[in-house]
Amino acid sequence: MSEFDVVIIGSGLGGLCCGSILSLKGYRVLVCEAHSQPGGVAHSFSKDGYTFESGPSLWSGINNQKIDNPLGHILRLLKEEVPVAKYKDWEVIFPESRFRLEVGEVPFRKKIKELRGEISLKEWEAFLAEVKPVSNLVKKMPLLTSSPLNLDFFDTLKIAGKLLPDLKQISKLRKGFGYIADKNLHDQFLRNWVDLLSFLISGMPMHDTNTAAMATLFEEWFNPESYLEYPLGGSESIVNALVRGLEKNGGELICSSRVKKILFKNKIASGVKLENGKEFNAKFVVMNCDTWNITKLIPSKLLADWQKKTKSIPKCNSFLHIHLGFDATNLIDLPIHTIWVDNWERGITADRNVAVFSIPSVLDPTMAPKNKHVLHGYTPANEPWEIWENIDYRSKEYKDIKEARCSIFIHALKNIIPDIEKRIEVKMLGTPLTHQFFTNTENGSYGPAISASDTLFPGCKTPIKNLFTCGASTFPGIGVPAVAASGAYAAEAILGKKEYKQLFK
Ligand SMILES: Cc1cc2nc3c(=O)[nH]c(=O)nc-3n(C[C@H](O)[C@H](O)[C@H](O)COP(=O)(O)OP(=O)(O)OC[C@H]3O[C@@H](n4cnc5c(N)ncnc54)[C@H](O)[C@@H]3O)c2cc1C
Repeated sequence: MSEFDVVIIGSGLGGLCCGSILSLKGYRVLVCEAHSQPGGVAHSFSKDGYTFESGPSLWSGINNQKIDNPLGHILRLLKEEVPVAKYKDWEVIFPESRFRLEVGEVPFRKKIKELRGEISLKEWEAFLAEVKPVSNLVKKMPLLTSSPLNLDFFDTLKIAGKLLPDLKQISKLRKGFGYIADKNLHDQFLRNWVDLLSFLISGMPMHDTNTAAMATLFEEWFNPESYLEYPLGGSESIVNALVRGLEKNGGELICSSRVKKILFKNKIASGVKLENGKEFNAKFVVMNCDTWNITKLIPSKLLADWQKKTKSIPKCNSFLHIHLGFDATNLIDLPIHTIWVDNWERGITADRNVAVFSIPSVLDPTMAPKNKHVLHGYTPANEPWEIWENIDYRSKEYKDIKEARCSIFIHALKNIIPDIEKRIEVKMLGTPLTHQFFTNTENGSYGPAISASDTLFPGCKTPIKNLFTCGASTFPGIGVPAVAASGAYAAEAILGKKEYKQLFK
């Protein structure tokens, strides 16, 4: 049986951030990944000369140091650089209007004035005036160095001192972001806009979305120096940089290695057993899988209460996906991203009502063969699992339902590329079953649907000694910055505060 200091179950961005930090500090780390390649929902795959993306497409703060992004900090800590393409705009297609929007406060103000007039602009300004102090408050608690779970008495005192002038804002952090919108926004367009951004961040409407996560987004996007960054080569480049960071300091990654169960000695985590029978001893075990999968790895007699609690956490819905390789002849000024909404009245969470498209080859031509483009489209966390759970993926029924439900993509895409059907050279469709299969997420869910006004995310600690969690199930926000931070917090819990602090000095 091989001996390690830490075994990490899953090579999602959270697991890789945790593992690479620990190996940098000299820990012997093993990352076990069930899939044939690392990255979790952020993995890429190649076919016919195209690099297809499966998950995140909106990145920022990788190289831009003006943005406090945990992933950017961790890459710098590992001395790993990922070249990026900088850009500022995305296409928005709503039922009532269509426009190209740049990040930054001024372009959106102009757009509001043009589309909705002065009164709406005033409402927006009042709204921003209330969001800004919350953003400032969040800025005073840099994600990586003020891990909420590992604060000791002196940290708390120090932070409390810094936050005293903002006492009034603190109570807002405990409410859903919709609270600030309700107070200030009556214009339906603006309310829909905030609801959409909240949904894209959390998979939930604005009233359930965490205010700190949204205040961070607003701080980033409305900063005059803000821009978006696309990692050249796609999300694979980020994953590869983290794997390099892990391996150059002695860490190991094994793919196609599903963990079947966690091993315990005297009720303390002591290693893992893989499905293929191999066992690895470790002083610490970190689970990067989602909250529902972790409960399957622990014998229920050990943790009945905790498992019951985590199992009952509600899930966000899943995804439909489309991957296209298509002829780029005479297509000029294509947007890298497009957000499409069909009908506001159906509500932001309604199935097949919102779709996100990205065409990364617009910025990075190496992702597609010459004169071709590669596209990933998905319906963000709005595809109900119940439609799919009892269908056999090998049946004709499955193929027919898949084609029918994914037809929404071509319908929406015709707004950007009217003759898209004639151009398609490679086409792959994905359902919640596909998402579940390739990412090992329960029911293909985006993550926990924990309302900001209800309760807190579980955090990286468990009731079992030497057993920790990280990833989208542990920290509010679900997106890349939140999972990177969660990986760092799990590393902090293992390293201890002093060692961890030295890293980020
Ligand atoms: C379609 C889509 C689009 C997104 N777009 C954005 C975006 O634009 N911007 C943004 O910031 N965020 C975005 N996100 C969110 C973000 O990508 C994810 O939250 C994040 O990548 C999840 O990382 P994680 O650490 O939770 O691990 P995951 O990616 O969930 O990976 C967990 C890993 O654990 C492995 N695993 C599970 N069980 C086992 C086991 N028993 N043994 C071994 N391995 C196991 C899995 O195979 C998987 O590789 C998007 C997500 C999706 C799905």
